[in-house]
Amino acid sequence: MIPRPAIRRLKANSKKIEHRNIKLESIEQERLEMGLDLFDSHSHLDVPEFEHDRSAVVSRAQAEGVRQQLLPAVAFAGWSNLKDVCAQYSGLYPAYGLHPMYLASHRPEHIPALRTWLETEKPNAVGECGLDFFVEGLDAEQQRFYFIEQLKLAREFKLPVVVHARRAVDEVLASIKKIGSVRGVIHSYSGSEEQARQLFKLGFSLGIGGPVTYDRAQRLRRLVTSMPIEFLLLETDSPDQPNADHRGQRNEPARLIDVLKVVAQLRKQPEQEIARYTTANAEAMFLK
Ligand SMILES: [Zn+2]
Repeated sequence: MIPRPAIRRLKANSKKIEHRNIKLESIEQERLEMGLDLFDSHSHLDVPEFEHDRSAVVSRAQAEGVRQQLLPAVAFAGWSNLKDVCAQYSGLYPAYGLHPMYLASHRPEHIPALRTWLETEKPNAVGECGLDFFVEGLDAEQQRFYFIEQLKLAREFKLPVVVHARRAVDEVLASIKKIGSVRGVIHSYSGSEEQARQLFKLGFSLGIGGPVTYDRAQRLRRLVTSMPIEFLLLETDSPDQPNADHRGQRNEPARLIDVLKVVAQLRKQPEQEIARYTTANAEAMFLK
């Protein structure tokens, strides 16, 4: 026979558990009803790495609430395939440009070609463009030429610019100031807090992705914790920059959810709230 106080305890405990289950269920329910709505602001879904299973990759992203993606180009030769991929699925938006790491395939005539594409295709952004002083063998003067010309085109067509800046944030800042009246995002931001402040003043946002999931990324994590949320965009940079749990693997837009989780933890804000803000930020930048 079980003594009475023990029965009371058991009853109380089971009530507690029941209560907690209801609470958890209602959180799950709320999540289902409201649904996370995420925007991957930097995904190279058009590249050959996704050739064989692109539809499945898009479905997995949608299942995680990643309903929109911005696809930045890397070189002239890929623009037409990028256009086709964006036309094939809803919620994919193209950006056309010339990426600094693909310098060897760029030709000066690709700048007037880009102008024509911007005129006829009316994409959502210019890019990916920028400066990379980390990778060896990329001529700095040539990089500057293509970057400045693309900034001018972005200004002329009033389009946001998607910028790659590796070991080059100071010069990117100077170039943006020099050209003026241009807005956009520094994707996979790796600069300092002070440089970030200057970028915010110029109306630039920061793309935050896989690197923030690494414990050792202390400087980046501090910045993400304290930066104004109106300048924060989430990105995967798929197929590159996988998060800490998937290092060495092909990255994909569905994993944006892992970036969201870390950003929410760092900022001590609900995931739902971070999702809402960052999606609104990306929509304001690329869809308006
Ligand atoms: Zn990229």
